[in-house]
Amino acid sequence: MAYAIYEIISRKRDGQELSRGEIDFLIDGYVSGAIPDYQMAALLMAVYIRGLAGRELADLTEAMIRSGDTISLTGIPGQKIDKHSTGGVGDKISFIVAPLAAACGVAVPMLSGRGLGHTGGTLDKLESIPGLNVFLDAARFREVLTETGMAICGQTANIVPADKKMYALRDVTATVNSLPLIASSIMSKKLALGTDAIVLDVKTGSGAFMIAEKDSIALCQTMVRLGEQVGRRTLGLITSMNQPLGRAVGNSLEIIESIEALKGNGPADVMQVTFALGHLMLEAAGVSSTFPESKKKFLQAISSGRALETFRRFITAQEGDGRVCDDDSLFPRCRNEIELLAEKPGWIKAIDAFAVGMAGIAIRAGRRRKEDDVDHGSGFIFHRNVGDRVEKGQVIASILSNDQTGGREAEQRIRQAISISARKTAAPRMVLYRVDKTGVRAWKD
Ligand code: URA
Repeated sequence: MAYAIYEIISRKRDGQELSRGEIDFLIDGYVSGAIPDYQMAALLMAVYIRGLAGRELADLTEAMIRSGDTISLTGIPGQKIDKHSTGGVGDKISFIVAPLAAACGVAVPMLSGRGLGHTGGTLDKLESIPGLNVFLDAARFREVLTETGMAICGQTANIVPADKKMYALRDVTATVNSLPLIASSIMSKKLALGTDAIVLDVKTGSGAFMIAEKDSIALCQTMVRLGEQVGRRTLGLITSMNQPLGRAVGNSLEIIESIEALKGNGPADVMQVTFALGHLMLEAAGVSSTFPESKKKFLQAISSGRALETFRRFITAQEGDGRVCDDDSLFPRCRNEIELLAEKPGWIKAIDAFAVGMAGIAIRAGRRRKEDDVDHGSGFIFHRNVGDRVEKGQVIASILSNDQTGGREAEQRIRQAISISARKTAAPRMVLYRVDKTGVRAWKD
């Protein structure tokens, strides 16, 4: 049946449901170039305003997957479990949870992205390891996964090309922040990889895509439904992104903090999120059924050195210098350090994650536009975190940069991001809810 794109746009604009045939026509036509950007932009705005019914969303996600190649993982031993975060500031959980889960017998394949706007990117962080290659073809990706239990690489051009094109268009037409468009974008890429299960870390708070908790829960539920509908076990957590995760923000600084975590020196907030997500991965793989059991396995993997050894083997297999695990002077360094001092005594009440992410752009730890380069050595170390006591004149944060002007701008932004209260403040709860096909439950560990 021949569909007219003009009619499809009008129907969605008026709040009607699109048929599967119309959705296939739309995606095929956009990827082939038969449907121009201006018509797709109008359709995306109509979806942004009107939303999509569950059936339309499933059809859209399937059509997006069919627009390109899929990566088969059959023949690779063990359960293959992907972990995905919706993105945040200081989010280094992948570098800790992947080796931990792999050391417990799970295979962890991840196709990851770069940082954009205030959020950091897994690939940029990995590239701060000298020599490390994030451009693996499908065959090498499978080999690294088989040899080391984990593999992380960038999306090749032909995995969900519909999303690549649509995301670029959404980015410039104010249509990124739409629940069905985010859910289909993320899940099409997750489902294109032939894993046994998917574990989602949906962030909530000032540094997250979804700031309000109820929107983060709705996004997670939608993605869990999309996965389960096609027979893929999908579990999710809602975790806090009101403040940066851990003490380090910046590409090499976060890898250094991750290596420390694998040696048993991880900050409490980072380890809470890591163990909770790791538990869902072990549960999905059938390796453990309770949180205490999973945590015990993770602590053993850390104390025995197996988790760090897995990370070292992964780095080497992806052509990186594995010696970074023992010598952090091998990472890129910055020339300037500015120390930010507390102007009054009290308790750290908040460190606004969004503001910290934007400060990171000023020192090129993050990028404003896709084509920008990042400075792998720049970033921030927070010596005090939310809930910590601080005295007047004590160093709260260090700003590491190669650019003095950017460093001063970042200093101002970080100063505004931190609030100190005269009243004692508790450290925030990091893991809020668990979401699976049976519903949403408050997280208990
Ligand atoms: N991450 C994605 O991959 N897609 C979105 O739309 C938002 C976040």
